[in-house]
Formats: sequence, structure tokens, C-alpha cells
Amino acid sequence: MARKTKIIATIGPSLDSKELIDEIIDAGANVLRLNFSHGSHADHKKVVEWARSSNKNIAIMQDIQGPKIRTGSLEKAMQLERNNEIKLSNNIKFQDEAILINYEKLFQDINEGERVLIDDGKIVLRVSKKTKTIFTAIVEVGGELRSNQGVAFPDSSLSLATLTDKDKEDLEFGNQLNVDFVAVSFVRNADDILNVKKLINSDTMVIAKIELKSAVKNLKAIIKESDGIMVARGDLGVQLPLEQIPLIQKEILNESNLQGKITITATEMLTSMITSFRPTRAEVSDITNAIIDGTDSVMLSAETSIGDNPILAVQVMANICEEVDETSNKNYLNKKDILVSKELTNSLSKAAVQVANDSNAKALVAFTETGRTPLLISNHRPDAPIFTFTSIDKTYNQLNLFWGVEQVKINRLETTDEMFSIANEWLKDKKNFKKNDKVVIVAGTPPNKEAATNLIRVMMIGEY
Ligand code: PEP
Repeated sequence: MARKTKIIATIGPSLDSKELIDEIIDAGANVLRLNFSHGSHADHKKVVEWARSSNKNIAIMQDIQGPKIRTGSLEKAMQLERNNEIKLSNNIKFQDEAILINYEKLFQDINEGERVLIDDGKIVLRVSKKTKTIFTAIVEVGGELRSNQGVAFPDSSLSLATLTDKDKEDLEFGNQLNVDFVAVSFVRNADDILNVKKLINSDTMVIAKIELKSAVKNLKAIIKESDGIMVARGDLGVQLPLEQIPLIQKEILNESNLQGKITITATEMLTSMITSFRPTRAEVSDITNAIIDGTDSVMLSAETSIGDNPILAVQVMANICEEVDETSNKNYLNKKDILVSKELTNSLSKAAVQVANDSNAKALVAFTETGRTPLLISNHRPDAPIFTFTSIDKTYNQLNLFWGVEQVKINRLETTDEMFSIANEWLKDKKNFKKNDKVVIVAGTPPNKEAATNLIRVMMIGEY
């Protein structure tokens, strides 16, 4: 059985050649993530050219940095000891006595008693005294402080704009590259998504990274405006107590599935494989549970970008996904109803899945322009594979992120009968379907009128 859960691999120095990009795609990556927190425009462009020149089926996701606050440069790493007092400032004048933090509104937004988390929360400080120019803080969790580490203020309310000037330039560059997805970092509310949509190509899908407390609070509205969400567990685990993350993950996936949107579960999925050849049992269990919770895709970050075994990490991820995907008929997967039930496309998709499941159909076939029909079919987690035919290049790429979907590129069709005969021939030729095998077709007809989804057809192979 083919794998249904999709895999996103983050690009970085460990995948720095055309051969390695080919290998990572062959190993099972469906989407390549370009992390714009690192690398130059020239680096990202090169990767896109390598990926597209190989003519393999792959989508490109641009992940913009957002307003990431960092510590300043240090000549050498320094050790922060528990219970020691240290100084913090955003003013370079104090660089000899204080740790610098590149946040302009530090003294406006941060107050005594609030925590400062450095390097994904590995170092924890608490502000004990504030003057106009310098903070005193107590080290609650010590560690080695290196240059330019990420800083988070989980107890404070920050007045940062979600989109920085760098993000705007990066989005313009993403438009030129014609990326398939844009992932937006540090989203706080639905307006953040609407603002990104104004700046990107209208056919690019927007993924909201849920990594702030305010995003969890505004979850429903953010999901409504997005094409999909990412459970960005790295920053989420800095902003919120770690023990809350598993249940928040379930809430985010559930709400997103209810609204019929794409879901990604990300970060530390196979961390041990950055250096090891084997995953831990806990990592295998985590990936399995994310799929059972209804994630469409799972993401690798450091494992593929800077890890020692990027290709192996994707192969291991693919094996774990396949194992879970094979159990889907045994009802482990959440088959949740979708709340957008007033959307006709959803009623038809749901009915088609029911017909396919009840009649043991060998496949569901969707014809699509935007991808909405196969996404809704996919969200109902049918037993049969979903073969999706589209004449739109970008939709073809984006289908790489949809659970259970295999896509087929076709020329634009004129008549409804052509749809049936194309599906009939392709299933016989490519999937070895036999006469009288049953398939359920969902489409908007006639195809030359760009009609919305309006047809469910049960077809026997050989009828056309
Ligand atoms: C995360 O925080 O989990 C994440 C995916 O974002 P980034 O890698 O940009 O920190």
C-alpha cells in the first residue's frame, strides 16, 4: 500500500547538492521547506532550480522568519550559572557588562518578574530589576550562551509587527520563485494571514505556524483565513509549558480538520537521528500519534537540514508513516465530521467517501482545479486511495501535502465523458485496475465551464 501521510523535509547544509535533493525526494520527501531564517536568496534559488530540473513530483514551501528576537554576538561562548545575577540591555553602550538583546521595545514591553528564554528555552532568566537602560535578571536555568541565539518572552505582551521588512522582501522573492506554499512565522491573529495574502501570488497556499499563545487563543479565526496550519512545536514549547504541547497539538489538528484545512505537525519528530542511525521508541510513537490525531503531514527540520543522516531520516519517517497508514482501515484514525458542511463541495465529498467505503470501491477519483475537493475527500479519511486529476501545475504541486492523495497531470478537458474515459484508462494502465473494478468519481462538470463540484459517479472499469 502506498504511503498516505506526506513528508516535509527542511533544506540546509546537509542537502547542499542536486544529487542530495534528488535523493531526498526519492527517499520520500513530498515537500521541500526553504527556511528563510537561514541562507541567502541565491541559496534558496539554487535549491528550487535543482528540485524543479529533476522533473520529480515535489512542492516548494517558503518559511518566512518573522520577528525573531536574538541575543547579540559574543567573542566566545559564555557559561551562565544557576542563581547568578546577570545584566540585559538593548543598548550597545552596555555590551561589556550586559547580554545584548536586539529588541527595540525591550524596556517598554518587558517587566520585573517576567521570564526571558534563550536558545529554545535551554536557558531561563527572570527579570528581577528594571531601570531605564538595563535589566538585572536571575539565571533560573543555566547553560552555555552562544552568539545570536533566539530569545522568547513567554510572560510578556510584545508590540512587534508580525511581518518584518526582511519578510516582505523574502515574500517578493518567493513570488518570483513561484513557491507553492508560504509558511508564516509568529502569527498572532487572522489579520496577519490576510496581510500576507495581500503580498503573495493569489494561487500560493498560506500555512499559519501556530507557535504563540495568542495564536492558540485566536486559533479558529486564524484557521478560517489560512489554507493550512503547522503545529510549530519548537517555539510553542518555548512560549507554553512543554507538558501542555501534546494536548494543544490535538486541539489544533482537530480544529483544523473540522474546518477542512491542511495540517502539518513539526519539530523534534526524529531529533535523535540528527546524529543517530535509529529513532527512539518515543519518536516513533510521537509520529504515529500525530497521524492518528489527524495530521496530513509530518515535518523534519534539523534532521534533514543539518543532520548527519538526512536521507535515512526521511526513509525512517516514510516507514513509520506507511505502517500507520496501513492501519487506517482498522479505524484508528479519527474520522471527524467537517464543520464546513454547508459547503456543497463538502457534502458531495462526504457522500462520495461514504459510497466508496460502503461499496468497497477500489479508488476515489477527484477532478480538481483548486484542490478543494480532494482536500475535503482526504479529510474524511476514506479507506480507498484518492487519485486526483488536474490540469493546473500549481495545484498539482500543492496536492503533495494532502493526506492519501496521488495526483495526475492532465490537459484541460472539454467534456464530462472525457473525464470518465481518462480515469478509466489511467487506472487500467498505471494501477492495473481490472474490468468491473468499482471507482467513485467526484467532479465539477462540464470541465470546460470551470463548474463547481456537482457530480458523484460510480463507475465500473471497462464501461469506457
Ligand atoms: C517551530 O518553531 O517548531 C518551527 C517549525 O519554526 P522554526 O523552525 O522557524 O523555528
